[in-house]
Amino acid sequence: MVKTKYIFVAGGVMSGVGKGVATASIGRILKEYGYSVTAVKIDPYINVDAGTMNPIEHGEVFVTEDGLECDQDIGNYERFLDCNILKSNYMTTGSVYQAVIQRERNLEYGGRCVEVVPDIPNEVISRIKSAGKINKADFVLVEIGGTVGEYQNVIFLEAARMLKLAEPENVMFVMVSYLPVPNMIGEMKTKPTQYAVRTLNAAGIQPDMIIARSSVPLDGSRKRKISVFCNVAEKDVVSAPDVATIYEIPINFEKDKLGRRILAHFGFRIRKKDFRRWNALVKKARDGDLKTVKIGIVGKYFTSGNFVLADSYISVIEAVKHAAWACNRKPVITWLDAEEYERNSAALLGLKKFNGIIVPGGFGSRGIEGKMKVIGFVRKNNIPFLGLCYGLQLAVIEFSRNACGLKNAHTTEVRYDTPHPVICTMQEQLANIINKNMGGTMRLGGYVCELKEGSLARKLYGSNLISERHRHRYEVNNKYLPDLEKRGLLVSGVNPNKNLVEIIELPKHKFFMATQFHPELKSRPLNPHPIFKGFIAAAAGFGGREGAG
Ligand code: GLN
Repeated sequence: MVKTKYIFVAGGVMSGVGKGVATASIGRILKEYGYSVTAVKIDPYINVDAGTMNPIEHGEVFVTEDGLECDQDIGNYERFLDCNILKSNYMTTGSVYQAVIQRERNLEYGGRCVEVVPDIPNEVISRIKSAGKINKADFVLVEIGGTVGEYQNVIFLEAARMLKLAEPENVMFVMVSYLPVPNMIGEMKTKPTQYAVRTLNAAGIQPDMIIARSSVPLDGSRKRKISVFCNVAEKDVVSAPDVATIYEIPINFEKDKLGRRILAHFGFRIRKKDFRRWNALVKKARDGDLKTVKIGIVGKYFTSGNFVLADSYISVIEAVKHAAWACNRKPVITWLDAEEYERNSAALLGLKKFNGIIVPGGFGSRGIEGKMKVIGFVRKNNIPFLGLCYGLQLAVIEFSRNACGLKNAHTTEVRYDTPHPVICTMQEQLANIINKNMGGTMRLGGYVCELKEGSLARKLYGSNLISERHRHRYEVNNKYLPDLEKRGLLVSGVNPNKNLVEIIELPKHKFFMATQFHPELKSRPLNPHPIFKGFIAAAAGFGGREGAG
């Protein structure tokens, strides 16, 4: 057993250049070399977790198996490493301070003055180490959120520096930087990277490797320049050009022998690597000859074009891709603005050009009437449909109103005094809502679900007991189940402990399924999710109740 090694990944120049995916890709590479790897994400904001943030602000809120609401990068780690990442691997400034302050209140500092340095970095280091232990990792990757030079993440760089001081042989620093190619110059510029490294130097850290993100690959002279000015060996400047699919990134990094350089840094023997499955995946993802499958996703988190939306539903998008590739299809995803269907019912006809429609999770009232119009339309027109979380709740409301005659049926989230609360809260949630105790109090993380014999869900999973991840406060109201079932709705998945509805389907429909949980959170490129596979198979025309599985 080797001593655990820690690789810190910090970002230079600007945010949004793919530091999370770069971190996940380093992890994948080390895994292909046969090492056990885990990854930790540090977010520099005060929020104790990501659960209270709007997706427009922050992108998707990912949920771990053990029920933490966290940054979407944890999802990237899970997808690239093909393993669960738990609570232990995520922290924010808020969560670190909260723990230190609580310990101080409990007299656990023996009466001494508790200070930002070293007590905060010490808490950070102890969490990083415990993530390594819990995951029995040879390598712990630690991604420090934000960009070097900003005030917020200084304390985390300080933790990295202190760990290096304590265990110099076990720590490595990687900086993910960005090299612009300004139009008017037509040449790749290294200066911003040079400044970013100097800023990192000012924090007492010298990067051992620089991953150079850019629109195009780095040439030799740029590598030399970065090497000389940033004090990094030329071999440790890794070219990271834009790629067609993020899953190509580990393969690209390996062109510059990133894995070998990391192993050499720690004096590790170079083992044989095995990239066969990953290569096959990338080949499929890049295959331009695949037939397409056209999926519409009805969303509402638009503010600055599709970019925000793509970030808000990243796990859904990735799950669609994984399933499509597994079905030998090229996914073509179109964003559909829920509110558009409220303004203009004629737009519904446009849904016919899609092979399948997804209504993903959400909160609040905006856009939901539009989403329900879409659900009603695909229900009646036999267009494959997948509803996720709020997507299930809205499907139940739509069905109650239009198939069961329960006029004004609603969720109590939106209309507290509805005559037919077909979606409502569990008793235990009421106190949280009244006391505004909203952080981390939803039904979160993995819960078991029993699948009904003979249902499509049972067939897709090939098992009668499954576990899936949740993030919601409201549930289907069991009082209305007889009405719904009489009209042909099948409750195919139930939580056996609390008797909660987890999956619904319409057996007569080509594919109409909705889940109270979020299956997208457990889809991996090398292990696509069975429900998404069933949905895509039906959308591609070779699945549904008969063919999928
Ligand atoms: N707003 C719904 C609830 O809280 C659904 C949440 C979701 O889609 N994640 O129950």
